[in-house]
Amino acid sequence: MLPVHYNRFANAAKIGHINKQKQQYMFQRYKHHIEQQYNESIESAVLEEIRMYDDLTGINIITDARHGWRKNAKDNSVVAIGEKIHKVLNCEHITKCDNSVSQRHENLGSQRIYHYLEEQDVKVNVHSHDRNLSINKLVKDKGIITNQNDPWHAIKKLKVAMKRVSAGPKYLKEKSWSAQLEDKVESVATHFHWAVRNCEENPKELRDVLLNIVEHYKNNHQKCHPDSRCKRDTKYESKRIVLSIPIAEKRLLGVIRKSTIYTHPEDYVLAKDTCCVESFNNTMNMFQDKRIAFSNDNYQARSVPETPGNFSKTASSSTSLTVQWDPNSNGGYIQKFYIQYRVQGLLEWSIVSAGEEDIKKPKRRRTYELRNLQEGKAYELRMYAENAALKRSNVTEVLIAFTDSGAELSVAAVVGGIAGGLTAIIIVLLIIVFVQKKRKESGTPSTKLRATSGGEDDKEDGLKDNILYESSQSDDLKKNILYQSADLNDDHSEVKKNQKKPSTSSEYASVQKPNAIYAEVNKVTQPKNAKEKKQKGKLY
Ligand SMILES: [Zn+2]
Repeated sequence: MLPVHYNRFANAAKIGHINKQKQQYMFQRYKHHIEQQYNESIESAVLEEIRMYDDLTGINIITDARHGWRKNAKDNSVVAIGEKIHKVLNCEHITKCDNSVSQRHENLGSQRIYHYLEEQDVKVNVHSHDRNLSINKLVKDKGIITNQNDPWHAIKKLKVAMKRVSAGPKYLKEKSWSAQLEDKVESVATHFHWAVRNCEENPKELRDVLLNIVEHYKNNHQKCHPDSRCKRDTKYESKRIVLSIPIAEKRLLGVIRKSTIYTHPEDYVLAKDTCCVESFNNTMNMFQDKRIAFSNDNYQARSVPETPGNFSKTASSSTSLTVQWDPNSNGGYIQKFYIQYRVQGLLEWSIVSAGEEDIKKPKRRRTYELRNLQEGKAYELRMYAENAALKRSNVTEVLIAFTDSGAELSVAAVVGGIAGGLTAIIIVLLIIVFVQKKRKESGTPSTKLRATSGGEDDKEDGLKDNILYESSQSDDLKKNILYQSADLNDDHSEVKKNQKKPSTSSEYASVQKPNAIYAEVNKVTQPKNAKEKKQKGKLY
């Protein structure tokens, strides 16, 4: 029962209910027992599996991945089952913290399973799984292990291909599909199943048997297996339509030749199916409902600490980076935090211990300063927690942070992206300041006009803003508008200006005036800047 269901039920029934802290406390307690049971179970399963082989060179395993709640979900569990005893040898829980691409989770899980088995000193002989190409590669890279794929999945795809050549629109009849194949979808699939089980582990034999399917349906039974009915029964008469049109024959042959069993017979010759691991996953669906998105803690329900949250950078200097994180559940044991870091591009992680959790305030946000770093470098950082039961959490996603590299350079870095824009702005600023100075010096009335006709100015400004923001015209044009409006003011305020000319207040105003223009320039440059950024964005 989910906590939310429990709460609702308890409230409706008025039977009182256990509060959150208590629930959490109990969860932490029994999680530990689950962990123990799990460990005992997988340990004994490995031993039992080993016992089943007469001459032990290695065990055969079947693996499959099961995603939580939906495709591309956060969680994925990869399970390995022993081929003889059908017991779980290991189950790895992979989350998006380990790798942000769900499609890589099966591979990662399989690697961990191999790692675990190697630690137990157990060798793997045959590894079967549904046809996941990255696992094929992983297994083949291991060298001595025989890779096998599940024929059921391959034959399912074959059936789809068969359906395409056995039915279709009328105008394509006997072109892309043939009526002579319409009764052969299931029987060809049966042939395939039979072929993988009777090819005597010989890839060439398997291919021959598959190609003979066409001959068999052409009523030519020369190469058919001695045990098959078409050979034994002298009065044999095929129930299926005999192939007579070349196009039907061609289409059937095409489907067979394109099937993965034909193209990679070596991956199927042992006829290892993964049905027991599929049924394990089905059973799991009963207990780990896919409609529910579990927390990591619940998903694993073992004494594994949870991955620290909100791992981020808070400060940097030329030789140090300060990071923060929120500790999560410790899995029932006191946890320590570890930060891994490396200069971007390097392979080796350096590890530093970032202290033990504070038992009194376990959830309090923590910070740590990484020192003695190199100047002006991009660093990759990630972290994990490990508790006193030596259980390690998943690592956080990689965080990229930069150390400072002296004031000048850092300014340059900030400016870098918009350097062009800024130079343009500075030039505009200089021109305007220069023009203003000149006007001031020569005593032209324009310097004081703003001060005297403030109200009008405001309106004008508003108008200008609108024009500037709306228009997508060039900056030169905008400048023109600016000057034009200034000229306009000139005419308007000529009279007032003459009246007030010598007053000190207007003097002050004229001093303030350049500021107003600065502000205006900023207004002009802002949208321009934004525009430039947009353009850059488009370019990339
Ligand atoms: Zn035959």
